[in-house]
Formats: sequence, C-alpha cells, structure tokens
Amino acid sequence: MSLESILNAESVAIVGASKNETKRGYQTIRTLVDEKYEGNIYPVNPKEKSIMGFKCYKNVSDIKGSVDVALVCTPARSLPAVLEDCGQKRVKGAVILAGGFGEIGDDGRKLENEMVAVANKHNIRLIGPNTSGMLNLHDSLNLVGLKDTPKGDIALLTQSGNMALTLITEAKIKSRKGFSYYVGVGNEADIKFHEYLEFFRQDPKTKAILMYVEGLRNGREFVQQAQKTTLEKPIILLKSGRSSTGKKSAGSHTGALAGISEVAKGAFQLAGIIVIENSDELFPAAETLSSLPPIKNNKIAILADGGGHATIAADILTDLGVEIPELNAKTQANLRKILPAAASVPNPVDVAGGTDADPSVFADCADIILKDPNVGGLMVVGLFGGYGIRFAESLSLMEEDAAHRMGKMVKKRHKPIVLHSLYNSERPHALELLRYYNIPVYDSLDISAKCISVLAEYGNYLNSYRPKHNFDLNWGANARPEGQKIIDAARHDGRRALLEHEAKELFAIHGAPVTGDRLVQTPDEAVEFAQSLEKTVVLKIVSPDILHKSDAGGVRVNLKTEKDIRSAFKEITANAHQYQKNADIRGILVSPMANKGVEVIIGTKYDDQFGPVIMYGLGGIMVEIIKDVSFRVLPITRSAAKRMIEQTKSFPILDGARGNPKLDQQAIRKLLMLCSEIVEAYPDIEEMDLNPVIVHEKGISIVDARVILKQKTGDPSSF
Ligand code: ADP
Ligand code: MG
Repeated sequence: MSLESILNAESVAIVGASKNETKRGYQTIRTLVDEKYEGNIYPVNPKEKSIMGFKCYKNVSDIKGSVDVALVCTPARSLPAVLEDCGQKRVKGAVILAGGFGEIGDDGRKLENEMVAVANKHNIRLIGPNTSGMLNLHDSLNLVGLKDTPKGDIALLTQSGNMALTLITEAKIKSRKGFSYYVGVGNEADIKFHEYLEFFRQDPKTKAILMYVEGLRNGREFVQQAQKTTLEKPIILLKSGRSSTGKKSAGSHTGALAGISEVAKGAFQLAGIIVIENSDELFPAAETLSSLPPIKNNKIAILADGGGHATIAADILTDLGVEIPELNAKTQANLRKILPAAASVPNPVDVAGGTDADPSVFADCADIILKDPNVGGLMVVGLFGGYGIRFAESLSLMEEDAAHRMGKMVKKRHKPIVLHSLYNSERPHALELLRYYNIPVYDSLDISAKCISVLAEYGNYLNSYRPKHNFDLNWGANARPEGQKIIDAARHDGRRALLEHEAKELFAIHGAPVTGDRLVQTPDEAVEFAQSLEKTVVLKIVSPDILHKSDAGGVRVNLKTEKDIRSAFKEITANAHQYQKNADIRGILVSPMANKGVEVIIGTKYDDQFGPVIMYGLGGIMVEIIKDVSFRVLPITRSAAKRMIEQTKSFPILDGARGNPKLDQQAIRKLLMLCSEIVEAYPDIEEMDLNPVIVHEKGISIVDARVILKQKTGDPSSF
C-alpha cells in the first residue's frame, strides 16, 4: 500500500486531544489551525465535549466522516485498544508518539508486537512508535507541533527528533531551502525506512532526501529501494554508531572485523547514497544536491581573490577525490584579457586584485571558466559578497549584478557554482541573491568544498551506474554437485567448519587458484609428495579441533629437505596433542610453498541488517592492527570489486609503490567475484575466510581457506 493516504492525509483524528497547552494533544490542533490545514480535524477525548471549537469524540469509531490518519498522543499501554478503535473506523494510518516499546527491552517489545498485530489485522500502517511525528509542509499537515518549519523540496527522514530540529533550524537560519516532508521514523515497528524512500521517490515535490539513521530494520531492502531512488533524486545520509564495534564472531577474522558501519557505508555507496560523516556537512550537502545539477566529469575550477583560500580549497578537494584540471588555452587567454598581469589563470584562478575596483568581474571570469568543456563546476572562494563591506559600499551593487549573472549562468550551462564567502554571516544582499538562484554559500572552506565534491560524487555515481548493479541474490545458481557433496559430507561428519583441504577443494571446483596440496598420514607419504613436487613445502595440521593452526603450533613453512619434513611432521603432531588432549587429527596437509608476494585477506559473513557481505584487506599486521579493510554487500560486480581494492589505504603496496612491482590486481578482483558467486551458490555457507591469499606479479595463491557452515541450512529467501 502506498503511504499516500497517511503522508497526504485529508482528515486527522487526534487521540488524546487536550485543552492543556503543554500537551501534544493541544499543540497539534493549535498548529493545524494556525497553519490553516484544510483537512478535517477530529479531537478524540472521552472527557471533553469540544476543543478549540471542534466537536470532541469519545472514540475514533464515533467520528462521522472518514479518517485518514490518527495522531495518537496517549501512553504506550493504551495502544492496542486505540488501534482496535481506529480499526473499526477503517483509519488508514496512525502516528504513534509514545515511547516505551521495543527500545526499553523485552516487555516493551512484547507490547510493540501486540500493537503491530492489531494494526496489521485492520490494515493500519504505523509511523513510529517513539517518534516526534510527521509533517507534510505543502499541505500544512503538521503532526509535530513545530512551528515555522521552512517549506521546500527536501524530504527529511530521521531517527532522532533532535537531529530533525537541528536540520530544520539550520535551514531556517542559514539558507533559503526548506522541506517537503519530515518523518520521524521512530522504532520502524511497521513502516520501514525503505517504504518512505519509495514514497519520496515518486513525490514530485521532493527533490532530495535527507536522512539521519541509527539502525535499519532491513538494510538490504533499504539499499534496493535507495538504488532505484538515487537514479532519480539524491539521498544524503548520515549514519551514527561508527564507534561501536561489530559483533564478535569467534570463527574468523572477517566476523570480528565486520563493524556494521563499514558494511553499511559500502552498501550505501553502492546504492548511490551520498554518505556524510561530519554532521556539520549534512544539511549543506542536502541543500547543494537538491539545488544544483551534478558534476558530470569530476572536474572543477576554483576562482579566488587570494592565494590562501584557493590553495586550501584545492587541497581539500584533492583529498575528496575531485580533479582540478588545467584550464584550456582559450579559457586562459580569455581570462588574461580581463585580469591584471599578476593573475594566475591555469586553475585555481587567482584574480590578483582584478576584482577590487569592480567585483562583477567575478561573473565575467565565471562565465569564461564554465564555458571550458573541461570544467564541470565552479567553486568561488574568498571575499565575494563582502566587497561592499570591506572596501566601499558602492561595490555592493556590482556584486549584486554579478550574483544575478552567476545565478542565470548555472541554469544556462547546467554546471553548478558553490561559494565560500568569509562575509557570509553578515548576510550581504549579493549572497542572498545567490541563494535565491539556488547557489549555496558557506563561510567554511571545508563545507563549501565538501558540497561541490558531493555534486561530483553524485555525478560520478550516475555516470558509472549499470543496470546489472543490483542487490538481488541468485541463490543456488552456480552450485556444483561436487561442491555440495563436500558440504554435505562435513554436515554428515557433524561439523560446521570445512577442513582446510575441503575448503580449498570447494574453491578449486569453482576454478580458484588454490595451492595443490595433499593430505597425508605418514612422514613417508609427506616426503614422497614433497619430492614429487620438487618444491619447498609447508606442513600443516588438519584437525576439526584446531581452527587456527598457527596458534596450536600446527604450521611449519619453508621445508626444503627430507630431514626438515620428517621433523616438522613429528613436531606438528606433538604440538597438536599438546594444544588439545586427544585432538582429532585427520592428517597433515603438505602444501607447496607459494611464491613470494603480498598477503591479502578476503572473507564473507552474514550481517544482521544486510545479509551476506564480503571483506577485503591487506593481510598480516594491516588487517589486525590497522583494520585497513573494505566491505561490500553481496553480490558484487567487477567495478565494485575494483573499488574495494582501490579504496584501501594500503592499495599503493599492490600498485607499485616505491619501485616495487605492480601486483596482479585483476586476479584479486576475479577472486572477490568468485567468492560472491560461491556464497550465492551455497546458502549453507555462513562465513568464509581466505587468509592469506598471496598476490604475485602474475597470479595469486590461496594458501589458507576456511569455510564455516550455518547452524542449519539457511532459508536464503530471508535475505
Ligand atoms: P592459520 O591461519 O590456520 O594459522 P595458515 O594456513 O594461514 O594457518 O598458515 C599460517 C601462515 O603460513 C600463513 O599466513 C602464511 O604466511 C604461511 N603459509 C601457509 N601456507 C603457505 C604456503 N603454501 N605457501 C606459503 N606460505 C604459506
Ligand atoms: Mg590463515
């Protein structure tokens, strides 16, 4: 069902309506009246005859006309009965303000479930509970009781009333922008984040969606909806909870490393969401993206009236991944014609006093720069807007002229301009004019640079989007009978962990480059196999009781001679028995020593909110101490795999840093995609861990593999 009849409700019942000015049941009616809501208002309170001139009803079911939405101001425990009453009236939706549900623990959760069951029975959709309410600004349907929220084209979805208040206040005081809707999603007991996205995607009054999220009830559906939405309008999102470490999973590195926030961030980015990490940037980013066209080529120019700002802006933008290309010869020549000799014109452009006598020269420069086909957008930094304040009042008029021209330029060329002005807080008229034309202005260099960078980020996403990028899992599609046999045999053996050689065999079946090992029972067999390989070998213990072989003294590398091999065999076996008395030893794995290279780690696991996810990072110290890893929700595509590798800090180590050879990134990419395929192929797999994979100049070697099965064969359809 569409949320239309709730978010655009034409009649409202206020359950718990009141004459007491301090109560929401009063304030809401007051605001609806003051803001001239055109729909019907029905107060409900058994103790009152009328409130503010409206007839008051004992029950919702006593109301004569139809009721689209009920705002419920009564306490948590009353909810099942209130919704039963609403059900009699065929109310379509309810906004539940009360707290005291799932967020307080088991008792609250029970009540929440009971409430949802009543709502489901009567087809009532619920916003909340534990929400500050809902606001439709274009219809003055204000169920928040918050006055003077500016009207505009940004839809605001938050899980915190105070963050909503922050963003609304910022809009009111610092910008000309406003909101189409505000929804406090609360506990998401019924309507989930992704359903709101679906609604806002189709809402013609909404141009951008601004979100503050603490946790998602269903991450995968959310990113699926988000991906559809971002093709039409931008989503700007801040997710808190970065610092809380992910759940520890004893089985593997990947489990312990998968902090939810990295998983979420990776998934959000794959869906084209603009993820913001600094709360000061949240509203400005939304303001910018709702107002201006995205940058198509990741290239911008900087126009400044001083070197300091220009250099700082260039540094920030470079860190944010935006290119600042040299302007073409014609552009530079045209700039030279109107600027003094001291000006610098390659990019950044420094006018070097060329605007002192006439700041409207800024607009002339902007026009020349935006005509350059190599420039996708412009950032103006410095004093613009404050020439009238700083130098002579008469300059203000010229600034206003420039503001008009820049405003029109953006529309004509479909290229954005973002301004930094150190006079912004004095609110000169020229800057107000720019805002009138939807050109945002900030007094922070960092924020203005971030804003122009998100236009580039969004443009880059739209350029690189391919329809095959989706989050649909194709369960069982690439399963091989031989692969399933390995899994079934382990289950039959009462194990949830595949032994190293079984895991490697599974990978080999799918064509992955695992080392060609052999499981042996005696030192003689080990020596014989090693000699047949004519290579240095590694010996490893194989036991269902020993998951981390090195910890048990179960690995000996670099074994060259027969003597080495025999003594390693003895040692490993003894160590295993010492590590665990009566350890169930299935043999010793003889593995050819892989060629030298850089160790990386690849793993997959199930995330509570997103289902199967994949992790990549450099092995060894990098993964354990620096946690330099990247995550993606499965399935992944070639380009996602590429970005996963390139976004790690340690990427230069693979890419030929400091004269080292460039290593085989394509082979890692292929392996990442293969892991994605294997997880999809066998819904039995819960986690896997390839640690390490050794990357060579040509090819890779999977030297250790671990696969952990689900407790029971999972129901794949739940993700
Ligand atoms: P575990 O992780 O259970 O302790 P591994 O199989 O990962 O055991 O072995 C420990 C380390 O030994 C690896 O991180 C790797 O550095 C090295 N190693 C293991 N097998 C090989 C091999 N075939 N070639 C080269 N190095 C190996
Ligand atoms: Mg290992």
